Amino acid sequence: MTLVYVDNVHKAFGDLEVLKGINLSVAQGEVVAIIGRSGSGKSTLLRCLNQLEKHDSGKITIADKQLDAASMSPKELSENVGMVFQSFNLFPHKTVGENVCLAPLVVRGEGKTEVEKIAREVLEKVGLSDKYDSYPAQLSGGQQQRVAIARALAMRPKVLLCDEVTSALDPELVGEVLRVLEALAAEGMTLILVTHEMGFARDVADRVVFMHQGRIHEEGAPSELFSNPQTPELKQFISAVL
Ligand code: ADP
Ligand code: MG
Repeated sequence: MTLVYVDNVHKAFGDLEVLKGINLSVAQGEVVAIIGRSGSGKSTLLRCLNQLEKHDSGKITIADKQLDAASMSPKELSENVGMVFQSFNLFPHKTVGENVCLAPLVVRGEGKTEVEKIAREVLEKVGLSDKYDSYPAQLSGGQQQRVAIARALAMRPKVLLCDEVTSALDPELVGEVLRVLEALAAEGMTLILVTHEMGFARDVADRVVFMHQGRIHEEGAPSELFSNPQTPELKQFISAVL
């Protein structure tokens, strides 16, 4: 079943055309890694999927519902699509538990007891059940990013978007975050990740999408794409990052 469907999506900032007709279809439970040089439009594509940016033309549907204000309210959108960023963006004066509970309480309007139960479940899932009452500053970067993942999961999204979630971390903390994502993938979570972790893309993604200058330049199974790139642009990118 197709969960995320992107049809000929265009996005410009002023004169700068950043997305030049993106077509992408992601099945439920699929893990898609988006790779490409800086400035190729990867973040803009993810932000359009979450409507942090409004696309200029084309169509995006999530679970067969079109992504625009008329057909999907912000509340509904936040229940369908979760996003984790490079910077964790936790509220520093709220505890881990409060950070995770906030959106379900405020956006979904769920009851406190139920939300706290979910918060404990998702914190357990990211290996942080003992940090419920800690403050972000008491955690390592890797732990903070895992809280950010738990916070997104607390809304029970159908798809989780991750934009370079390990790029701000010290190298020794990258693995613990990737392992959480790998476990989510194994559980059947639909994931669309922008990543520079080529090993992770190769091992965990079902499909790798290479973006170049606002277009999907090449895509395919990771083994195929990395071992047998078809375009000079992807060949060059792979030799630069590997
Ligand atoms: P990537 O994530 O692949 O590095 P981005 O999607 O962040 O690429 O950016 C693609 C291009 O769009 C870049 O040239 C960037 O400077 C530009 N851009 C991104 N967001 C904005 C914005 N809000 N306003 C103007 N230009 C932007
Ligand atoms: Mg980016």
